[in-house]
Amino acid sequence: MQPRTQEFSKLAARALGDTQVQKALLGLQTGFDQARQRAILELTPEAWDRLRDRAREIRRHTLERLDYYVGLLADNVVRNGGAVHFARDAHEAAQIVLDIARRNGVKLAVKGKSMVSEEMALNHLLAANGVEALETDLGEYIIQLAGETPFHIVAPAIHKSQEEVAELFARKLGTPEGADAEALTRIARETLRQKFLQAGMGISGVNFAIAETGTVCIVTNEGNGRMSTSLPPIHVALMGMEKVTPALEDLGVFYRLLPRAATGQRATSYFTLVSGPRRNEDEDGPEQFHLVMMDNGRSRLLADPELREALFCIRCGACLNACPVYRKVGGHAYGWVYPGPIGAVVTPAMVGLPKAVALPFASTLCGACREVCPVKINIPRMLLKLRADAVEGAPGQRKASWYEGLTFRAWGRLMRSERTLARARGVAVFLQRPFSRDGWLQKMPLPLFYRWTRGRDFPTLARRSFHELWEDELRTSSPQVPPLR
Ligand code: SF4
Repeated sequence: MQPRTQEFSKLAARALGDTQVQKALLGLQTGFDQARQRAILELTPEAWDRLRDRAREIRRHTLERLDYYVGLLADNVVRNGGAVHFARDAHEAAQIVLDIARRNGVKLAVKGKSMVSEEMALNHLLAANGVEALETDLGEYIIQLAGETPFHIVAPAIHKSQEEVAELFARKLGTPEGADAEALTRIARETLRQKFLQAGMGISGVNFAIAETGTVCIVTNEGNGRMSTSLPPIHVALMGMEKVTPALEDLGVFYRLLPRAATGQRATSYFTLVSGPRRNEDEDGPEQFHLVMMDNGRSRLLADPELREALFCIRCGACLNACPVYRKVGGHAYGWVYPGPIGAVVTPAMVGLPKAVALPFASTLCGACREVCPVKINIPRMLLKLRADAVEGAPGQRKASWYEGLTFRAWGRLMRSERTLARARGVAVFLQRPFSRDGWLQKMPLPLFYRWTRGRDFPTLARRSFHELWEDELRTSSPQVPPLR
């Protein structure tokens, strides 16, 4: 998938005009976000906070010794009878999966939900080489049929109404028109069940990978994850290298955080631990187990002390549900795999800041993402750092335009001098007159002002400033009121 990250404004405008998307986004707030809050209250906010601190400690410890834990994980996977593959980037990772498929004559692969496979654009590469890759998570299956990308990290098809899905199934699968949700789910299940039995390869994501045991952990709400990892003769698990965690007991922390933060559940319906291929004494399970560990820009994040924290992410999606920008524009506006506040941080590391420069600016910096994050990731601080990099960064990266630079230098001078600010305010009150209507400023000239006002209305500057009004107040009120400076 080619990133469309440079088209943020255009895609956001399209989402704002789409009534179905707006309805779905409203549902995210009343659904996931409120369920998350209830789950935290039930656990008690104090216990929740202690878990978050512990999770941060584990993530910090792990990332400081990432090479050691990745090595330990790889050794233990091999000891368990599996194979480990390292990939520098998404293309290399996808090629590894294709090679495994080719070596084993695989023509059909069933896939569990995996954001890493979206980074790799794996389905396209496999399809182009004669291997059908079928999504088996219901949401992913719907968007695969629709030829779209995930709208949300944990709910990929949440933007689609039941009617749209019924119409899609009728068009693509020849099902009766107007089927209800139960019928649609039954149709999907019947279609997919045959595929699980026919597939030569199952592909899954990895929520956590335990270094000390060589085990991968998969957290799902549909049985498809377990079917994909246990029915086909080959299981390929895909992970970003930051998913490693030192010990099995760490799951006691992360598994209490992830479902609650994501969907407000105490536990998900399925929680699968895979430690290699089938052993002699096992009744079933895959004959081969492959673990693909991908870098794809994660080393860049790791090397930057100001951005490293982004690798703490456990992909719960809570920051999306809380973000006032995501809540209006949805996931497709971000133009690539990872939407929302965390997407605005990790996408520039993966596709390059010049291609994703709009994303760090797609935030109000309100801090809601940090508040809800189960690992307390300071996303606003990282967005500010990326904005600074975008403006002052290395050659080839975005530089502020001359008028932007001039404006902010002038702004800096104004804010340092009370008298100059008062004079400039007086001039601005005079200059705004031709552009103000009924107390509002609309569509001002000059690129900088035009860009600020074409989509926003500003109240006009008041004739008298608060400072002046306060001084009037002081003159007429009690002498004990302190002066305003
Ligand atoms: S940044 Fe935090 S809230 Fe957002 S997806 Fe990652 S873990 Fe969840």
